[in-house]
Amino acid sequence: MSFCVKCGRDCEESLDGLCIDCWLDGRKLTSLPHHVDLRVCTNCGEYEFGDRWLRREKAVAVQDAAADALAVIRDAVPVSVSTQAVEQDPHVYSVTVRTTCDVMGYEAEDEATTIVRIKNTVCRRCSRQLGSYYEAILQIRTGSGRLSEEDREETLVMVENSVARQAATNRSLFITKMELVTGGVDVYLSSMSLGKSLARELADFYCAETKESPKLVGQTTDGQDMYRITYLVRLPEYHVGDVVLFQGHHCKLTRVNGNGGRLMDLMDFRERAVRRADMSDIRVYEKAEDLREATVVSRSGSEIQVLHPDNYSTVDLRVPEDADIGDSVRVVAIDDVLYFVP
Ligand SMILES: [Zn+2]
Ligand SMILES: [Zn+2]
Repeated sequence: MSFCVKCGRDCEESLDGLCIDCWLDGRKLTSLPHHVDLRVCTNCGEYEFGDRWLRREKAVAVQDAAADALAVIRDAVPVSVSTQAVEQDPHVYSVTVRTTCDVMGYEAEDEATTIVRIKNTVCRRCSRQLGSYYEAILQIRTGSGRLSEEDREETLVMVENSVARQAATNRSLFITKMELVTGGVDVYLSSMSLGKSLARELADFYCAETKESPKLVGQTTDGQDMYRITYLVRLPEYHVGDVVLFQGHHCKLTRVNGNGGRLMDLMDFRERAVRRADMSDIRVYEKAEDLREATVVSRSGSEIQVLHPDNYSTVDLRVPEDADIGDSVRVVAIDDVLYFVP
């Protein structure tokens, strides 16, 4: 038990010899600087907080900026904070921060006010983007010389989705520009690591071949060599569904992924796996979209009779026992003999 040196009251605990009431009397628990500058990017509209740029409503950003600048004295522990902003002009807000503090187990309130000034600037990402900054080029090509429009669209959607996903946690990642060039498309990227990850992603998805070539483009101000890297992704000619030739067998390509692919032999409908290293031996025999349709006349077990799409003669085709046969089937001619394509 002690007593307060100011009011003489007995008190269980004292701070600097004072009871809690005398100690709190007239004391500021919190303080704010005279003003706080809040930087906003005029290009993307994001606000700077510490070393991060964040998307916020203006009113929220202004109040957060004030709350972030709040200083609390050592003996007080803030329990809750509320803020209120009053616009003075579109770039100047008066913000009051009310804080409930715990002082030796007692709850005490205090408030402080500051001026938040919104300063226009351009964030680093936007200034790079506006300045066409890039560190890597992803070159998407194909083995057959010409990238089809479907392949181009499909890969670009993949690239854009992947960049959006990665940029959600790292805002320095962006696509600088895309350029259609003879034989494919070039994607200019803000970072080498982004180029590398996209090249790997495409390579895994398509079993594509990749090659990277660095190019010295100059030196940084502190004398370090500066490189740009070109990541070449050569998409294979084949697609799932194509009839392909592999080690002398005519097969339907049924699956492609990062580990390789699967083929179904058109002679006996047996499936086999192909290792990724062997995928480059696959040659396209007939593209899926070029396969012919033949009208089914009848079926008996593992045989069907179809009309030959060229001369309408009746032809017997072997089909797998469990094949689901509709009114027409896809067929391919190999050495003038027609085969069923599952
Ligand atoms: Zn007292
Ligand atoms: Zn910006």
